[in-house]
Amino acid sequence: MSQKESIRDVDVAGKRVFVRVDFNVPIHGGTISDDTRIRAAVPTIQYLLDHGASVILASHLGRPGGRVQDDLKLAPVADRLGEILRIPVQVAPDSVGGETASLAHALQPGDVLMLENVRFHPEEESNDAGYARDLAELANLYVDDAFGSAHRAHASTEGITHFLTSVAGLLMERELTALGSVINHPDRPLVAIIGGAKISSKIGVLTHLLDLTDSFLIGGGMANTLLKAQGHEVGDSLIEEDKLDEARSFLDLARSRARQVELPRDVVVVREVSTEAERKTVRVEDVETGWKIVDIGPDTVASFGDFIGHAGTVVWNGPMGIFELEPFAAGTRAVARAVAASNARSIVGGGDSVAAVEEAGLADRMTHISTGGGASLEFLEGRTLPGVAALQDAPVRGVTP
Ligand code: ADP
Ligand code: MG
Repeated sequence: MSQKESIRDVDVAGKRVFVRVDFNVPIHGGTISDDTRIRAAVPTIQYLLDHGASVILASHLGRPGGRVQDDLKLAPVADRLGEILRIPVQVAPDSVGGETASLAHALQPGDVLMLENVRFHPEEESNDAGYARDLAELANLYVDDAFGSAHRAHASTEGITHFLTSVAGLLMERELTALGSVINHPDRPLVAIIGGAKISSKIGVLTHLLDLTDSFLIGGGMANTLLKAQGHEVGDSLIEEDKLDEARSFLDLARSRARQVELPRDVVVVREVSTEAERKTVRVEDVETGWKIVDIGPDTVASFGDFIGHAGTVVWNGPMGIFELEPFAAGTRAVARAVAASNARSIVGGGDSVAAVEEAGLADRMTHISTGGGASLEFLEGRTLPGVAALQDAPVRGVTP
């Protein structure tokens, strides 16, 4: 993917700038329980205000399904943002329409207006050109800072870019630089840690990373299908029978290209997935009928840790076990500690892996934590993200050797 222009490449002074942000924060009874996503957008907003622009913010919140839903209005988000920026943040009555347009056109440099939830209109998700044009007419520059929504071609992420000059915000730029560095110029060796429930959701990443990656460390439920493809019995573990062939071809391809694929050597098994269940650690050769694999074991942690310790770049997507349950979180946590301790550039994507790293208190020890679960996965699969493709290409600077 080519380089994209960012707000630092264009003149924003005196402009009304439409900024697509991801303010899809958890709200319970009007209270925001985690404002990470709001704070993540502040550098872009502050940059624009400091450089003489006025800012029109647009976001979705939840899944209102194309109609107004009172508990998914953005007022609490605007209040929280106002507290952080220390300026009033007004919420428009809608994302389009006469009253909203008047408010937008009256903005002075330094002002911030938040549009109401864009998903109150079905035209947002259907990427309706008329709605996109109405959004565009509020502003004279478009900035996308919502990496987590960039894999969806919606009116506020893609449609609008047909009507305005469109550039990346600082958060988007950081995502593209960090994830792009894995694909374009990783420090070697590049170690990919891939886990999570199902191989079907990660086979695209495995395949795309095959050419780039020196070693794969594979855990989580998806490793079961690979273990079975290698001829191991995995008892009553989660398995995707219909993916055994794909698993086998991945292993064959990896071998033919001399890539290392490390699968679990020992695993934690239980009869039933519950906190109280009796559990034991066994070699992968010894998983019996009636038992389920729920985490990687200590020998696997040690061997994975060895690869991580010698890595130049680590990209991690997917937990090593059912980490939501404390007794099965040890493997994921140990891998998180190993990544945090290594000198490698570390990029973590995937909603659950990010949650696990944050829960372990290790988020600030990673080089980059992606804000986009699905979007980061699609990026690593080599797929074009419509919201990114629509942004202005940066002029080629110099010649790449
Ligand atoms: P991410 O969001 O990081 O991309 P996924 O959504 O692919 O990760 O997978 C996360 C889920 O995988 C978690 O809910 C976790 O409980 C589950 N999981 C991990 N290991 C296992 C396992 N051995 N058996 C069943 N589920 C597992
Ligand atoms: Mg997930």
